[in-house]
Amino acid sequence: MPGDNITENLKDMALELGTDFIGITGSSAFQSSDYVGNKPQDVMPDMKSVVILGVSVPNGAFDTLPKGRAEYTNTLMAATATLRVIAFQVAKFIERKGYKATIAPSEGSEFGYWYADRETLKADFSFKYASYHAGLGNFGMNHLLITKDFGPRIRMTAILTDAPFEDDEVIQLPLINDACRGCMKCIEICPVDALTEEGVIHREKCAEYMFDVLGGLRCGMCLKVCPLY
Ligand code: SF4
Ligand code: SF4
Repeated sequence: MPGDNITENLKDMALELGTDFIGITGSSAFQSSDYVGNKPQDVMPDMKSVVILGVSVPNGAFDTLPKGRAEYTNTLMAATATLRVIAFQVAKFIERKGYKATIAPSEGSEFGYWYADRETLKADFSFKYASYHAGLGNFGMNHLLITKDFGPRIRMTAILTDAPFEDDEVIQLPLINDACRGCMKCIEICPVDALTEEGVIHREKCAEYMFDVLGGLRCGMCLKVCPLY
């Protein structure tokens, strides 16, 4: 482990800079046979830790949907920009301690998978899976991370590093949030049936709707109707 309480210092710094939550998980989370996505080790083979940083998104951005799509999209991008600045400072902090760090893009940013990998629409690795293992929340039927404090109304970024930070001690939650049973509002509201009761997401339907129909603005209706916030 890095000495000098670096894990605690890193968390304190991220919170002081304006994150609403932070979680850390080690590389082993992505070695489980349950995980089928791309792995962060493909980006950084000697990666030891994933540091998740997140902010909550103001409720007004959701409440004004669908008319307020431009405002919603702009607010999401403001959250992304905020996280980028914070993550840059945190990455520099890690490097001052003698390790290396790089910042992964969030899915909807201009460098995220919605743009960079239009063929598979898969991220370089799942922030949500890392967050689940860091104890930040679990999954909803809308395929989003449901955090304890803010539900799905959040934005995240992630730092990959070879620093072997202390993993968060977590009580592992069930993979799917219990409240989803008997709700299914996100599935009913989706205008293009991208979500199913079997737990499948048709990413291409969601992406085509946002890029081809909404001209690149975000939809967000499956977040708006989710009561978990
Ligand atoms: S809208 Fe309902 S079913 Fe969908 S994620 Fe939220 S709680 Fe779960
Ligand atoms: S963002 Fe819109 S289109 Fe995409 S899954 Fe949610 S409700 Fe459906």
